[in-house]
Amino acid sequence: MQNDFYDKLSQLALKRSIPYCMGCHKEAKDGRCLSCGSDDLGFLLPGCSCGWGLDWIIEEILKECLTPVDLAEAFEQSVRESYPETVQVAWMNLDVCTVCQEIDPVSWNIAKGEWEDQECEAGTIVTFDGGTYYWAYDLEAL
Ligand SMILES: [Zn+2]
Repeated sequence: MQNDFYDKLSQLALKRSIPYCMGCHKEAKDGRCLSCGSDDLGFLLPGCSCGWGLDWIIEEILKECLTPVDLAEAFEQSVRESYPETVQVAWMNLDVCTVCQEIDPVSWNIAKGEWEDQECEAGTIVTFDGGTYYWAYDLEAL
């Protein structure tokens, strides 16, 4: 799943960038530098910068086009869907998420971690660096 996205993003990165001779600082559209003849090329991302490999271009594309998942908010939302009712304590009607987070933040965080793993396994959210998550449907839209 993740690799699938990575392959597609690599293709997208190739499409958006131009082969670039890092030595001569010249574009090398045909895959070979016209000045020095080298085919050991980097990539130029127009309007951004140049460098070796595609990973940094993928990062730029992700940064530019996608909003990372707000995990805290997404988890809260999923809890709200499972427990839409409010909790009544004496005369107070309290929101389930707020009550859980305040009464047992440790348990809340454990559940949040499990939820992240679950969503990741289900392929709903995708990460390439283990820290930033993106919605799979956002990636597919790219
Ligand atoms: Zn060159």
